[in-house]
Order: sequence, then structure tokens, then C-alpha cells
Amino acid sequence: MMDQLALTWELEETKHRQKSKPRLGVMINGVRLTEIISQFEQQQGIGEFNDVFLHESDVQEYSLFNWLKSLEEGDVRIILLGCSCGQVECSFFYANVCNRDGWVYWQFDGWPKRDYSEFPSFWFNASEYQQVIEDALLHHQ
Ligand SMILES: [Zn+2]
Repeated sequence: MMDQLALTWELEETKHRQKSKPRLGVMINGVRLTEIISQFEQQQGIGEFNDVFLHESDVQEYSLFNWLKSLEEGDVRIILLGCSCGQVECSFFYANVCNRDGWVYWQFDGWPKRDYSEFPSFWFNASEYQQVIEDALLHHQ
């Protein structure tokens, strides 16, 4: 069963109703990744990390290169969420991506170390995957 990836630039309302800088939202099969994680943490009875999607500037710094690298065959790690305090390094959640034979496989892990052995993994069609990433990351400016 193939999974569906979607990337959306999300704007959040700030207290002063200014437009905030967009964050790169990741949706899998129509569900926000943060929601999938939150449900998993509740099921497992583990504390919530409350990591958030990356700001555009953090995408540039931490993940854009690897997003693009994941379009080629091979293995790469993509940081998807960072600490809610704004410092990506202190807590983050990432996909270990394997692109091979027309398929892109995502498994997850995070820092500080967490047990995601029971967390679902996902398969994407490589050409659909490429389209989603190019639309969100190359053509959105
Ligand atoms: Zn932090």
C-alpha cells in the first residue's frame, strides 16, 4: 500500500496578528506528522517532545540539501521537526530516507534518543515524491 506525502508552507497567527514566517508542514496520508507523533506518544505512554515544523530559514540551513539529495537513489537523513524553543539542535525528529528502485522509504528517529521501533514507516512512489518536493522547495518562491 503506497503512502501519500504532502508538504505545505504553514503560517501561524501571532499574538499581534502579524504574519509569521512560514514553517514547512509535512503531511502523510492527509495527517500532519506532528499529529501522528502525538498519537504515537500517547499510545506508548511516553512524554511529549512537542517538536515543531521547521521555519523556512531552518529548512534552508538544516534540511534543504538533504531533501534534494533524497530525490536521488541512496540513503539520507532529513530533519523534519525541531525544538519548540526555536533551537533545532536541542531536540529534533528526522526521517531516514532510502530511495531505491522507484520507491522512497521513510523511517523515523529523533534526538534526544527516543524509541521509535513501533512507529509506522512509509513508502512513497519516487516520481510522485519528486513532484511534491520540487513543488514545495524549488518552485514556491
Ligand atoms: Zn529547545
